[in-house]
Amino acid sequence: MTSSTCRIILKASLATLLSIAASLGIAVTIVPMLGGVVDGNAWLMCILCPLLIAWPVSAWQFWQGQRLRDAFGEIARLHGELEETHRELSAAHDALLEKARRDGLTGMLNRESFLAALDEAISGGGQGTLLFIDADHFKQINDRFGHPVGDDVLRRLAKAIAGAVGRGGLSGRFGGEEFAVYLPGIALPDARPAALRILDAVRRLKIEAPGGRAIGLTVSIGAAGQAGGAALDELVIEADEQLYRAKAQGRNRAVFALDIAAVA
Ligand code: GH3
Ligand code: MG
Ligand code: MG
Repeated sequence: MTSSTCRIILKASLATLLSIAASLGIAVTIVPMLGGVVDGNAWLMCILCPLLIAWPVSAWQFWQGQRLRDAFGEIARLHGELEETHRELSAAHDALLEKARRDGLTGMLNRESFLAALDEAISGGGQGTLLFIDADHFKQINDRFGHPVGDDVLRRLAKAIAGAVGRGGLSGRFGGEEFAVYLPGIALPDARPAALRILDAVRRLKIEAPGGRAIGLTVSIGAAGQAGGAALDELVIEADEQLYRAKAQGRNRAVFALDIAAVA
C-alpha cells in the first residue's frame, strides 16, 4: 500500500470518527428533547450510518483530492521539461544559425554573411576601408602538394589574416582562396598599416607539407575606401579592381585606390 493510500484511509477514518461523535452528540441532545429515548438501536444507528456513509464518501473525496494534486504535480513537471526542451531547441537553433553564417573550412564568416555584415557596417555612413585579399599562385600549392594540404594552408591563412586584423575588423572568406576584411572607422590612407600587417603575417607563416617541404605563401591585397555614402557594390568593385592591379604589379603587395601606389 502506498503512503498516499494510507493517508487517505487515515483521513477518511478520522472524518468517520468525527461524524460518529457528531451523530452521537446530536442523538443524545435532540432525541430526549423530542421525548424519545436513546436506546441500543439508536446507538447502533449513530455508529453504523457514519461508518457506512461518511467513510466511503470522505475516502472518495480525499482520493479525488489526491488525484488532483498528483495531476497538478505532473503538469508542473511536464511544464518544466517543456521549458528545458524549449531552451535546448533555442540554443540548437542559435548554433545552427551561427554555423550557417560560417565557412566550413576556416570558420570565418562566409561570403553572404560577410556581405550582410559589411552592408550593415557601411549603412550608418562614416569611414572605413575594405580589403580584398587573394592568395598568390594558390593553384600551384594544390598542384604540388595536393588539395588536403591546400585546405590546411587556407585554414592557416585565415587565422593569419584574422590575427593581423584584430578584433576591430570584420573578416570573412569571400570564396576559394579569396578573403575580405573591412576596417570600420579607418580611412583608406590609415589602412596601410593593417594591410602591411596582413602581408607580413602571411609571409612569415611557416607551413610544412608532408615530408617537411616548406610551403611559401604570399597574398595580394586590393583596398577601397568608404567615405560615407558609397554603395556596397561600388565598394566591392573598387576593392576588386585594386586587387587586380596588385596581381598585375607582381603580387605579394597591397594596392590602394588612393594613389594607385602599391605598398609591400
Ligand atoms: P593568382 O595569384 O592569380 O590568384 O593565382 P591562383 O592560382 O591563386 O588563382 P587561380 O584562380 O588560378 O586558382 C585558385 C585556386 O584555388 C584553384 C582552386 O582549386 C583553389 N581553391 C579554391 N578553393 C579551394 C579550397 O577550398 N581548397 C583548396 N585546397 N583549394 C581551393
Ligand atoms: Mg589566387
Ligand atoms: Mg582568386
